[in-house]
Amino acid sequence: MSAITTYHMTVFPLSKWDIKKIDKLRRNFLWKGLEEFRGGHCLVNWLRACRKNLKVAKALEDNRWMRGMQRMNSNQEIRQFVSLWSRLSSLHLSTMEGDITWKFTADGKYTAKSAYDIQFIGSYPDFNWTKIWKSKMEPKCRFFTWLLLQRKIWTEDNIIRRGGQSDPQCPLCNARPETPVHLIANCRFSRTVWSQLALPYNLTSNSQTANHARIKDWWAAASGDERRTQVAIYAAWNIWKERCRKKYNNKLLTAAQVADLTKQDIFLFNLAKTPPAITPVIR
Ligand SMILES: [Zn+2]
Repeated sequence: MSAITTYHMTVFPLSKWDIKKIDKLRRNFLWKGLEEFRGGHCLVNWLRACRKNLKVAKALEDNRWMRGMQRMNSNQEIRQFVSLWSRLSSLHLSTMEGDITWKFTADGKYTAKSAYDIQFIGSYPDFNWTKIWKSKMEPKCRFFTWLLLQRKIWTEDNIIRRGGQSDPQCPLCNARPETPVHLIANCRFSRTVWSQLALPYNLTSNSQTANHARIKDWWAAASGDERRTQVAIYAAWNIWKERCRKKYNNKLLTAAQVADLTKQDIFLFNLAKTPPAITPVIR
């Protein structure tokens, strides 16, 4: 509606009466559509509703920033207003050209990394996930452990919780309902796997014998330095694979065989990441 008059106004200045009439039409349209407008229907002060973006210098001129302010209803609002007014009264703007700086980097320059990091400001990690992501393991095993510690792997309890039809019993022992902590830590099959690994890797914690209430309790007991963490992740990964073999292919290895597969995985991974002692000469 305001734009309709623009062409006319480029040639003929509008009288105050015209401006008042157009403003009335605009108010009617904004708050009541085509109906007649009354003061009580105005949800926001009109000056505020049609406030334009002012430059700082313009807003400070003759205290223009005060125009369109809402009525203050509390002592706190009045105190804040007086404080703001007092500060702005002594403000003198420089005539220098303004500059845009990015406050989330030391040099004031924008970087994609700093923008990414902003989303974590004020939030606290609930768990030290760095140990998993920094561990020297295949990415698929680290990802599995990340899911496992959040109890998001597809154990029977999770399948049923998400509306799937499934036998709730653990496929490895058929004695207890399957949950992440049962499968990896408390299942008698898994405990045998852990005990098979205790001697070769000198595991002295109670990760093989304790009955863990939460999967993160198991992780706290089973992980540790790089070697222990590697054994914990590869053993959990192989127990999970054995569970899937049993459930979907009905093939069952012994706990000793699963422990051997774990040892094999660790050996091969460490071999692969060790650079060869002799560089082969190709003629
Ligand atoms: Zn079990």
